[in-house]
Parts: sequence; C-alpha cells; structure tokens
Amino acid sequence: MRYLVLADLHANLEATEAVLQDARAQGYDEVLVLGDLVGYGASPNEVLDLVRSLPLAVLVRGNHDKAASGITDGETFNEIAREAALWTRAVLAPEHARYLRQLPEGPLRAGGAVICHGAPLDEEEYLLGDADASRSFTRMEFDAAFFGHTHFASVFHWHEGRILHRFMPGEGGALPLEPGKRYLINPGSVGQPRDRVPMASYLLYEPDRGQVVWRRVAYDRDAAAARIVRAGLPELLGQRLLLGM
Ligand code: ZN
Repeated sequence: MRYLVLADLHANLEATEAVLQDARAQGYDEVLVLGDLVGYGASPNEVLDLVRSLPLAVLVRGNHDKAASGITDGETFNEIAREAALWTRAVLAPEHARYLRQLPEGPLRAGGAVICHGAPLDEEEYLLGDADASRSFTRMEFDAAFFGHTHFASVFHWHEGRILHRFMPGEGGALPLEPGKRYLINPGSVGQPRDRVPMASYLLYEPDRGQVVWRRVAYDRDAAAARIVRAGLPELLGQRLLLGM
C-alpha cells in the first residue's frame, strides 16, 4: 500500500496539478490530506474539484478551511490571511463550502498512522521546535503521525524519551521508519512552501516497506502568482510563491 500525503494546498491550482501529475507517475493507492485546501491562493474551487476526485482515505480540515467556510472568522489570522479567507468565502461554490464545513477535525488514523493538521491533539498548534514535538510525543500514543500547518517539509524523530534528531528534507529524499522508533512527519506544503525551496512539496508513505519519500515538484509559480494578483488578492501572497517563503 502506498499513500499520497498532501498538506496545505492553499488553492494553488498550478502546484496541485503538478503534484498530482508527479504522483501519478510514481504510483499510489490512496490519499491522505492534512488540511488547508484553500486560503491564500486564487483557485479554491478548482483545487476542491481536483481533491474531491481523488481516492481519499482520510481528509482532515485545516484552520483556513474553517475560516473560508464560516466555522471561524479567522480572528487569529494576520490581516493578509484574513483578507484571503474572506475573499475565498465570497467566491467558493456553495457545494464546496458545505463540503469544507463537514470536514472532520483531526486526529484520525489511517495506514497505521495518525493524521492531523497542526498537532495530534490540537489542530491549530504549530509544531516548529523540539519542545512542541516532545509535547505531542508524550501526550499521545503513535508510531508515525503526519502533520501540516507549518509549511516546512520536516520530521521529528523520537527515541527513548527524547528527540533524537530533526531532518529537513529541503530538496526531497527518503527516510526509513525504524520499528520501535516514533516519528512526527510533515510532507511540506503543496501550495505555499516556506522553506525557501519554491517548489511544491508532498510525500509518499509506504507503511508495509516502512518508509516515507518526500518529493519536490517544480510548477508554474509565475502563473499562480499572476492569478493571485488578477483576483485582487494581496500581492504579497503571489510574491512569496516565487521565493518559497
Ligand atoms: Zn496552511
């Protein structure tokens, strides 16, 4: 069994299409989505059409999905993120808005792993440093957990009660999952990578072989940025795609 793991697509049609094309060439059985399908980018309806056509095993909601569908008002967002959430809410097809509203909150389980948006026990927590990761490891039982939200392709590796190492697969790469060890794994962001690698990021998870493989995919980021400007969204949201930050 091979899972395609997607996080933080953020209404970036060009990045989503490029990732799905690359993933089809690699081959996969089912899809795990870690939330934030929309927000920031200019193609929320198109990205939802694509995602909903996939063989989904699990899809959890993200904080931007909640804001765009009216579950929250984006009151914790910065001004630009909030402006994008309100724009998304205005253009979202009613059927897609209904779909976003009924998405489950993590954590859920699939393929022997925990699936969440921010952290296993708090969908809006940012897992950025060792202290954040340690809290998640000690509060919940799991061997592997997949999370998004930070937009950094990364992994925290826990062994015998401490973080053994962090690994930032900036350009992609494989990691064996060793029995008896525990992992918090971020596939990176499809639609708005922030690790200064301006390529879409995703991951393939093979529980039977005990490995994860990060992939980085070049996409037409000029087109995605131009679409953001044309839509009247804040220009900064287009500029950051060009830089990958
Ligand atoms: Zn996000």
